Amino acid sequence: MVYPIVRYGDPVLRQKGKIIPVVTQEIRKLVEDLLETMNHAEGVGLAAQQVGKALQLAVVDVTLVTNRESRMWIKDQSVDPLEYMPLILLNPTIELTKKKVFGNEGCLSFPGLGFDVPRSTRIKVKTQTMDGKVFEFEAGGLLGRAIQHEFDHLQGKLFIDHLDSEGKREIKEDLNLLLQGKEIPQS
Ligand SMILES: [Zn+2]
Repeated sequence: MVYPIVRYGDPVLRQKGKIIPVVTQEIRKLVEDLLETMNHAEGVGLAAQQVGKALQLAVVDVTLVTNRESRMWIKDQSVDPLEYMPLILLNPTIELTKKKVFGNEGCLSFPGLGFDVPRSTRIKVKTQTMDGKVFEFEAGGLLGRAIQHEFDHLQGKLFIDHLDSEGKREIKEDLNLLLQGKEIPQS
């Protein structure tokens, strides 16, 4: 089932996700629906908050992005990220590196808005799998960026929170349009 995606202004986007103690049938269905909704919207990631559910659950898939590199390592060995897509982030934790790089980001909850966000270049991720195991890996490039963006959602944090005061001023009008349910004109 394709969910309508929650837009900026809905308080659920500011809610920290609850830990999912057990993978129930309901959670399995939600994961399926998140994947279907993300694919339908042609996004690279989607968090449960974006379909109105404040849970520690998000999905990521960078398969369709061919112009931005994604990197992934397991036990320090470089692996092909595409073999691990789609990624399901269930009760994830991440460790960030201090080194950051700016890169363009958008968000399905902010249609039409895009700007550069600083993110750690390489992150360590620990997530639970659907069959109750722990999956640890490192990610960089677009994949690392997408995971940091989704991890933020799970904490009730949004990509606009990374802007400095000047950046916030620049997008103020666009945010007002979104709050009024209007489209952002594309220049
Ligand atoms: Zn987002």
